[in-house]
Amino acid sequence: MESDDCSVKVAVHIRPLIGDERLQGCKDCVTVVSGKPQVQIGSHSFTFDHVYGSTGSPSTEMYQECAAPLVDGLFQGYNATVLAYGQTGSGKTYTMGTGCGDNSSQTGIVPQVMNALFTKIETLKDHIEFQIHVSFIEIHKEEVQDLLDPSTINKSDTKVAHVPGKPPIQIRESSNGVITLAGSTEVSVTTLKEMAACLDQGSFSRATGSTNMNNQSSRSHAIFTISVEQMRKINNNTDSPENGSLKEEYLCAKLHLVDLAGSERAKRTGSDGMRFKEGVHINKGLLALGNVISALGDEKKRKDGAHVPYRDSKLTRLLQVLFDSLGGNSRTVMIACISPADINAEETLNTLKYANRAR
Ligand code: ADP
Ligand code: MG
Repeated sequence: MESDDCSVKVAVHIRPLIGDERLQGCKDCVTVVSGKPQVQIGSHSFTFDHVYGSTGSPSTEMYQECAAPLVDGLFQGYNATVLAYGQTGSGKTYTMGTGCGDNSSQTGIVPQVMNALFTKIETLKDHIEFQIHVSFIEIHKEEVQDLLDPSTINKSDTKVAHVPGKPPIQIRESSNGVITLAGSTEVSVTTLKEMAACLDQGSFSRATGSTNMNNQSSRSHAIFTISVEQMRKINNNTDSPENGSLKEEYLCAKLHLVDLAGSERAKRTGSDGMRFKEGVHINKGLLALGNVISALGDEKKRKDGAHVPYRDSKLTRLLQVLFDSLGGNSRTVMIACISPADINAEETLNTLKYANRAR
């Protein structure tokens, strides 16, 4: 991996005006500067690594430019994270392809990642033994929930924060500073179909929970993790293999695909103190994330060993688990999702500022 690859890349995905916005007569207030990864809104102009508009074939390009290199990196042992950021309704779930029943289940990042992963495994499996695991968790109100918990699946309509008797998922730090996530379900999968079933199961569990818990999904972060372990037997005597001894080479890497909570500002409704508290938690997580990413993206700071403020929220502590180390072994892509509608201009501007800072 090139040293400049262990950095942060930021892309913007602009969805088209959707039905509701058209009905309300909204105007498109976001312009893409032709031939440049540059976005204009009002008098503001921002440049990113990539900008995907509503023309062309954004999903294919986005996958190729943002995610495909990370999938390749997995096979070389490099960890990676893709984050979808933006206000509720801006297209995060569509971009990731983790929604239930819209057509993004084909064109989104995650389905394309899964496809590419198994296509590649198919070409390598005669020489390499693979073990693939997935986990799917959700952070809601600074609490971590397991979306693949076998004891809550199929009972999602009665989903509660924790099944009585089952210990919550915990982030543990041992005395030597190693951070692990305890208690989340890791499902072993051998085929694309099995992996897709896990994604569907977890997405369903998240969506079902949300109708009962007052649209929880817009206020929670969902993290789908694919872990790829490779065992390769190498004969160290290539001239006469029968005399050689077999050396085993082991590689493990994780790809985290994150659908973040809505970035909209918490609205203080007065009567709904509970909701406000959730908003505060979410904003704390996203704020901390912004700080972490900005520290990670700043190569100079990283080299100087500057403090990366992981500890400031559950989300960022988890990401610390996810990133595993800062030893130049992880890549991050943030995809900032925006609505082009003039009624969303204020939140869109906030998103672009946040994304701009992450760069
Ligand atoms: P979020 O997850 O950020 O709340 P969604 O992904 O649910 O937003 O998107 C909101 C709505 O906009 C959905 O109806 C979705 O199908 C639609 N949508 C989002 N992005 C696109 C896109 N690029 N093209 C067409 N429709 C989109
Ligand atoms: Mg969503």
